[in-house]
Amino acid sequence: MGACWHRRTSMRIDTHRLIGNDGAPVTFLKAAHSGGQIIPRFVVIHYTAGGSAEATARYFASDAARASAHFIISRDGAVIQQVPTDSAAWHAGKSSWQGLSGLNAHSIGIELANWGKLSRSPGGYASHTGTPVPASRVVLAAHRNAPDREEAWERFDAPQLAAAAEVATALLTAYGLTEDAIIGHDDIAPGRKIDPGPAFDMRAFRGAVAGRGEDGELAQDIRVVTAPAGLNLRTGPGIDFAPVALMPDGMRVRVVAPGAPWAFVAAREHGYDGPSGYAHTAWLRVI
Ligand SMILES: [Zn+2]
Repeated sequence: MGACWHRRTSMRIDTHRLIGNDGAPVTFLKAAHSGGQIIPRFVVIHYTAGGSAEATARYFASDAARASAHFIISRDGAVIQQVPTDSAAWHAGKSSWQGLSGLNAHSIGIELANWGKLSRSPGGYASHTGTPVPASRVVLAAHRNAPDREEAWERFDAPQLAAAAEVATALLTAYGLTEDAIIGHDDIAPGRKIDPGPAFDMRAFRGAVAGRGEDGELAQDIRVVTAPAGLNLRTGPGIDFAPVALMPDGMRVRVVAPGAPWAFVAAREHGYDGPSGYAHTAWLRVI
């Protein structure tokens, strides 16, 4: 095979650190609190109820913090690690799942930067801190633990979900787990916690992690081709791979396997999937 400098490597765990797609460990900012050694059996998804991932990471690194997590993922998909994966983080609190209690001792915590539940404000929606959240970023849905009450939640965007799926995949691979090991904080502490909540489609996320495109589609993982001359789908992740099809400007595609700068996508026409292949993400706009 020829030059493969376009080839993108998967994220992986090496010596309890996450190695990113570029082959280097992701940013590590040590949390103020962590516990004893663990053998991870579950991956718990949270939202931060906060602004930027960096701000939450700085808080977790500070003496004032009363919590921590292994990973924080920003809205645009950047990953910060704060606790090695063989040590407990303080993310689950009082919790139980499948006969185990105190899930800090058995799980990895992934925090997604997201305001979570929003309140209605005169101008639209606002976070619990009063930060305005535009209606375009709002999902209206009932939490399954309170099914009669529709509420407003900040949406999760594709870059963040794609990064989270990659981190989760690396963790499942490293610890020999299946996608069923991915659970929500609201699963393990249902009376006490509502994150990640209904804006996070757990079924679709597990499907994406398992590599199932069909029933596991992430609703937000539809992109539109933004390339006046069209965009080639290719047999591999690089311009030296043969074109499969030319997708016209404006065509919608479904991201089957996220990646940057090459993602594996399926062209999507009138509800069914057309040809699939690798496309350069610079020409795919999130919608
Ligand atoms: Zn949580």
